[in-house]
Amino acid sequence: MRAAILSDGRFSVENVPDPEPQEKSVILAVSACGLCGTDHSIYSNRLLGDGAILGHEIAGTVVEVGQGVREWTAGDRAAVIPIPYCGRCELCTSGQQNLCGPGLAAMMGCGGAAGGLAELVRAPVSSLRRLPGAVVPPLGALVEPMAVAWHAVRLGNIRPGTRVGVLGLGPLGLFAGLVARQKGALVFGTDSRPHRVASAHALGLGAFAADDQPDDRIRDLTRGGPDVVFEASGRPESIERAAHLARVGGSVVLVASYHSPAEMTPGHWFNRGISLLPSIAYTPQDFEEALDAIATRRIDIGPLVIRPRPLEDVQDVFDGFATQTESAKLVIDPSI
Ligand SMILES: [Zn+2]
Ligand SMILES: [Zn+2]
Repeated sequence: MRAAILSDGRFSVENVPDPEPQEKSVILAVSACGLCGTDHSIYSNRLLGDGAILGHEIAGTVVEVGQGVREWTAGDRAAVIPIPYCGRCELCTSGQQNLCGPGLAAMMGCGGAAGGLAELVRAPVSSLRRLPGAVVPPLGALVEPMAVAWHAVRLGNIRPGTRVGVLGLGPLGLFAGLVARQKGALVFGTDSRPHRVASAHALGLGAFAADDQPDDRIRDLTRGGPDVVFEASGRPESIERAAHLARVGGSVVLVASYHSPAEMTPGHWFNRGISLLPSIAYTPQDFEEALDAIATRRIDIGPLVIRPRPLEDVQDVFDGFATQTESAKLVIDPSI
């Protein structure tokens, strides 16, 4: 099969042996694989050894099944939960699977099994969720990042009327805003990049550009600050900003991941009673609910998906990651 192999800090499309099905696993022909900030940080910080196949936002079609697989047959379409939750630890058995250490450490395409930037990928049956026919492959690949947003919104305890701020309107910030709005929240976001503010508007979310005194505007519109601020920019300095923006007694939910220290003023958080809620990954339930919301179009992320690109473009996509001026999710289709 063809796969985008990461070696020496560069991607090249190579022919590698097809994965073999194992017991209780299937081989999927990958029909869409989304790329996100996690992939970019693995790439730019060289977090994995040579020969890695990235890609953890995967939709595909079953082409072969391993021993003991009865519930799946060739032709079935699936979205993949890339985290192999151990199912035994205290976190897994108490509904906090998103924090399962062995599961996160062995995430597909992120240091665990080979990911979806290839024509074929092996996935355990326990990781598969059925994709209804109405869900086109690029949307199937976006169930995974939608599940990340879904978990964050659940952690933020969003209810009808909750006032929400979103710092950073990349795909995750937009997804969090859309999920929060679907739950009845009033959502106001901001981003330093004008094209992202424009796409928030196109999705019907309130959003302000950086030169529009966004924090003051959001504070006004939420009468004293949002109940919940989602920090989705991934910039460490934005965490303190979120605490200033939230209302007294409000909370800050971290949706992004951070790779450098942040300066914070604990007294400010303390005196204003701001809670800090880091939201990492998702539980199987979050994933299933995100899939259902996309499949039923209760949340329409269609406008965020542009034409998927072939495997040959992977290096190009990573080169342009930080400077892209489209808000669309980056999706690779290894079958083209
Ligand atoms: Zn991702
Ligand atoms: Zn576990």
